[in-house]
Formats: sequence, C-alpha cells, structure tokens
Amino acid sequence: MHRLKKIRGIKKMKNRKILIAGNWKMNKNNEETRTFFSQLKKSLKKTSCDIIFCVPFLDIKTSLEETKDCDIKISAQNCHFKEKGAYTGEISVGMLKEVGVDFVLLGHSERRQYFNETDYSVNLKIKAALKEGLCVIFCVGETLDQRKNDVTDETIAIQLKKGLKSVSKEEILNVVVAYEPVWAIGTGENASSSQAQDVCKKIRNVLAKIYDEETAEKISILYGGSMKPENCEELLKQEDIDGGLIGGASLSVEDFSSIVEKAESL
Ligand code: PEP
Repeated sequence: MHRLKKIRGIKKMKNRKILIAGNWKMNKNNEETRTFFSQLKKSLKKTSCDIIFCVPFLDIKTSLEETKDCDIKISAQNCHFKEKGAYTGEISVGMLKEVGVDFVLLGHSERRQYFNETDYSVNLKIKAALKEGLCVIFCVGETLDQRKNDVTDETIAIQLKKGLKSVSKEEILNVVVAYEPVWAIGTGENASSSQAQDVCKKIRNVLAKIYDEETAEKISILYGGSMKPENCEELLKQEDIDGGLIGGASLSVEDFSSIVEKAESL
C-alpha cells in the first residue's frame, strides 16, 4: 500500500496526477529492453507525469535495473492468485514482490479473450495482489458487439462490481482503472474523446456507488485503445481521463516520449 499514495496528487485541474502506462505485451527481449530504457531516459529527462511500464516477466529484472536511477515504475502483466503450488507456468504475487515489482496489470482484454480470464478470476487476482501490497492496473472494456447492442454501460458496471468484489475502501486507493474498449485495442481506431469521457465518467459513478464519491474522485482512470501522439491530447484533456494505457505506441521511444510531453503540457 505504498507507491500510488506516494505518487498520486498533482494533476492540474483534476487533482489527480497524469499517469502514462505502457503495455509492451509479448514484445522486447532483454537487450531491446536495455536499449529502450537507456534511450527513453535521454529522451524524457524530467517529467511530472507518473510513468509505468508493464513488461513481460523475463524483462522485469532488466527493466528494474535500467530504471533504478529514475522515477519510472515497472509492472508485471499478470499474476496468479494462489501463493504457491501445482500451477505450472504461473507466477505468484510473492515472486513479483521478491524481484521488486510494485504493480501488476490485471483483467486485460487479451487475457480475457485468449486465456479465458473471467471477472471471477480477475477478482481473485486483484485481491491477492492488493493483499500483498501490490498496486493494480485493472482493465475493463466492452467489445464491438456490446457497444453495437447498447450494453456498454451495463457491461462495464458488471466488470467493475465483480472485479472489485470484497476490495475494501482502503485497498481501492491502490487500484488504477483502465477503460479499454476492446474494439480500439491494437486496431488503430481509438474511441473518440467524448465516447471515452462518457464511459470514464460512468466508471467513476460506479466507483462512487461501490465506495463513495470522495473515494471515487481519488481513483485514477486511464483510457487505453490506440492512443498515440496524434490523438492523446484530446483524450487526456477530458475531465475523467487521468492518463493513458498505451500498447503499440509504448514500444517506440519517440512515440512514448511524445505522448508524455503532450500530457505534461496540458
Ligand atoms: C493495450 O494493450 O492495452 C493497448 C491499449 O494497446 P494499443 O495501444 O496498441 O491499442
């Protein structure tokens, strides 16, 4: 229960600091990781935005080494909810903590789609991570069919309620919610700023119902889905959008730095 409290709090107007998070997915080996961070540090210099990179498990140690002299935080992209046992191929929260990770990305739509993760298993993972003091980036979002069938709000409310079941008012302060419309992820087609703001506001309303308004105001909500230098400003300007979760554009030092610079100038 540490990092988010330490790093939250200066965003102009909104009282929430801008958070720009990269999700590398299954990209970059150790050598590429070293090169990326050494170039990023030269390109970024000092920034008032919070920056997190969600990297593959095998890049975590290298990423932590490369970022130990700056404020960039490193996150895992998944964890198991059990402490240990016969779960071949899995990584526990304790193992992540041991290497020095403070964050974990959970509920990403690719994990829901390709690895059969459900609101129930995401909830188990969120609780396990928070119990051990990891901060969580929790992804929610509707599919294209759900949007076309006009069930976006309902879908997201269910994901939030089920995913956050039994997460306390104290624990939720270590959760960042990422709104990621599934149809916008990796497609090059981002949600419009008004579509994204509309859902992010609704997410905050659901959080206010589960917890209370004061708590909901403290929670950072990110937008993710084809965010890039060309569209980030319009999205990040929105009242309830406190940052971005960036996939493709986070693989390029130039694009990622440009997004951070633009976010900073808002
Ligand atoms: C993501 O992977 O969370 C994501 C938003 O990807 P992209 O930016 O490539 O759409």
